[in-house]
Amino acid sequence: MNEMLAAHRHITNNRAEIEASQQCGCFNCMQIFPPTEIVAWTGLDMSNFNDPNAQNAETAVCPRCGSESLIGDKSGYEINTLFLSRMNQAWFQKTAIIRRPAKKEP
Ligand SMILES: [Zn+2]
Repeated sequence: MNEMLAAHRHITNNRAEIEASQQCGCFNCMQIFPPTEIVAWTGLDMSNFNDPNAQNAETAVCPRCGSESLIGDKSGYEINTLFLSRMNQAWFQKTAIIRRPAKKEP
């Protein structure tokens, strides 16, 4: 699987992974900081707010820019500026090349 696509699976529903990380990074504003700075998470509503599984599956919101574009080092990726810039290019500037299988004409 494309590395950037694989990494993106760590961007959503990532609360447990982010909280287990030493550092996390935002590929929207390119900041790197400890997860303790995160103050907001999305994903809970009145129907599941006391469900521990749902809490672990919340999505981290960046404390610097407010976007849901955080990835923690517990994901297995090294969080550094180069990695964040590659994610930024792939996801916000749509420069990732995703090859689709050629259509076979009947
Ligand atoms: Zn940010």
